[in-house]
Amino acid sequence: MKRKNLGINTICTHVGEVKDTQFQGAISPLFMSSSYQYDGVDVKRYPRYFNTPNQEGLGKKIAALEKSEAGMIFSSGMAAVSHCLLAFLHKGDHVVLPQTLYGGTYNFVVEEFHKFGIEYTFAAGFTEKDFAKAIKTNTKVIYVETPSNPLMKITDLEIIARLAKQHSLVSMIDNTFASAINQTPADFGIDIMIHSATKYMGGHSDICAGAVAASSKHMDVIWNISKNIGGSLSDYTVWLLERSIKTMALRVKAQNKNAKKIAKWLEKHPLVAKVYYPGLRSHPDHLLAKKQMKGYSGMLSFELIDSLDPNKFMKQLKLVKQSMSLAGVESTILSPTHTSHALLSPQERAHQGIADGLLRFSVGIEEKKDLLADFTQAFEALTKKRN
Ligand SMILES: *Cc1c(COP(=O)(O)O)cnc(C)c1O
Repeated sequence: MKRKNLGINTICTHVGEVKDTQFQGAISPLFMSSSYQYDGVDVKRYPRYFNTPNQEGLGKKIAALEKSEAGMIFSSGMAAVSHCLLAFLHKGDHVVLPQTLYGGTYNFVVEEFHKFGIEYTFAAGFTEKDFAKAIKTNTKVIYVETPSNPLMKITDLEIIARLAKQHSLVSMIDNTFASAINQTPADFGIDIMIHSATKYMGGHSDICAGAVAASSKHMDVIWNISKNIGGSLSDYTVWLLERSIKTMALRVKAQNKNAKKIAKWLEKHPLVAKVYYPGLRSHPDHLLAKKQMKGYSGMLSFELIDSLDPNKFMKQLKLVKQSMSLAGVESTILSPTHTSHALLSPQERAHQGIADGLLRFSVGIEEKKDLLADFTQAFEALTKKRN
């Protein structure tokens, strides 16, 4: 069977599985060896070389999901992000990054890059002009996150890929928020796809991992530095991650569906001032999202009206958990002002459009009616107390 003709659920279930030639079991056997024969073999296998049987197998699944030639698995999303950036940025080089960036990536850039003599510019906004203006003569990499966290702003991937080609840059995307199910950046010409596999790929809030997909040529450059830095993932967790990804398309599609319905419900709620979800017609980037995404993801944000305390609202929730992470099968909620964006000044938060009443909601696979009932009882508890 030709891999490129397979449907998404078949890719999730089967591509890259390791054959059990000894017992003909249905699933990939787990190879925990950190020591392999080196004499008379083509490949010198070692976990830190990212080439054990389970690492290689899962790499193929990641590559197929992102319609790319090669895939690699890392010990965390940040290992994937940092190894990719350092692979293509040398002393004196410059990278263009988006205005809003995942907190860990932001910290990596501002705390570490000066040690390597790497320069960076955060684009002033999300348009072609904003990114083009940030490109300099020594720019080597253009890096984006779309949808953005937490306001779900959309960056046009076709434009980013075109800018990269015009200026001979390597283009990278952190595709975690959309997931490989909802967005295939390679279709638009993006070079390197990065994931925190801790999120939708793992999907059950019990794995910390990272994943990268790219052409073989780009992956060789990433591999060359990665084997020296050493951010590989234990084979046991690689095996668990393969098992998780088998259901990723089913999970993500259920989360898309829930999120769209909940976004519409919140938009009509009198105690909600604003909803940010690219699947809503009211979202300023809805048409762009429609063009480049296959689903609008399970991530959304909403702002309570000023008189409601977001912390009190979250404390009233019984089913939806307060949690820093996202993309699990269970619904979770957080206040960016008090968590992911707490280190920004109130002015910086205001500049990015993050209000104190903003809540980021990671929609799970629970029944929609139960999630809405949980929100309803929390709103009722809060308004009762006010009267
Ligand atoms: C969580 C996350 C990361 C970092 O991943 P870890 O697995 O926590 O290292 C990077 N980017 C985005 C968008 C994330 O949500």
